[in-house]
Amino acid sequence: MLEELKKLKKLQKCDEQIFQRETVLDALPEENERLEQQIRELGNKLTDLRGGVSLHEDERRKREDILNRGEEKLKGITGKQSAIRNKEEYNALLREIDNIKRFNKEISEEVSEIDREIEIKKQELELIEQENLKKIQEAKQKLAKNLEQMKSIESEVEKKYQERDKLAATIRQAILRKYERILESSSNGRVIAETENYICRGCNMTLPPQLYNNVLKAERIETCPNCQCILIPTDGRKADKKGGPVVRDTAERPSEEEEE
Ligand SMILES: [Zn+2]
Repeated sequence: MLEELKKLKKLQKCDEQIFQRETVLDALPEENERLEQQIRELGNKLTDLRGGVSLHEDERRKREDILNRGEEKLKGITGKQSAIRNKEEYNALLREIDNIKRFNKEISEEVSEIDREIEIKKQELELIEQENLKKIQEAKQKLAKNLEQMKSIESEVEKKYQERDKLAATIRQAILRKYERILESSSNGRVIAETENYICRGCNMTLPPQLYNNVLKAERIETCPNCQCILIPTDGRKADKKGGPVVRDTAERPSEEEEE
């Protein structure tokens, strides 16, 4: 049975690696979505600001057209001076010239005002343009990196599953089924727990002495009453180091046992 338990420990190691990789894989799509949204938002902000600048520029052109027409009109009317026949006509002309000049001045002030607004909008755009473009670039790079990482993890997971299948095929069916039942109901992917000094290392609960002794005997599968993990005797070296009771069973555990 100890041999089977050792195989289960290896299987657990393999499943843990699969579990870790799948956890990363599960989290990445959400992060990618966040990055894509960030790229969209940063881009939209730039589009809005650029749109604002060109809207003001359009407005400025319209005002300049009006101003040009106003100045043409002023020139035209000034040329009519020679045709004046009396004082009334002269006064009327002066008033009209005055009106046109006032109108032109107002438009010209509006153009200056729009110029100032364009300047502000442009400064605002300039200020965040470099920053946003840099952030967009970084987000795109991170996104590409994530997609690459996902591909590589997916192929790793596939290999790990193959490794797992090979390992599982060497384990007795009944034991494997028990292991898999526990794995399915486990939230953290943990199925195997070492025991040391009457304690389950899976959940740190103190085990009943009889149960602990059974685990050391390793004659059948024992599970922790608290965390449901399959209990296995701990590696003797750890017990030595911590100065606790030596639970190593050298007779049944060949020294060539490797960790990985
Ligand atoms: Zn436990």
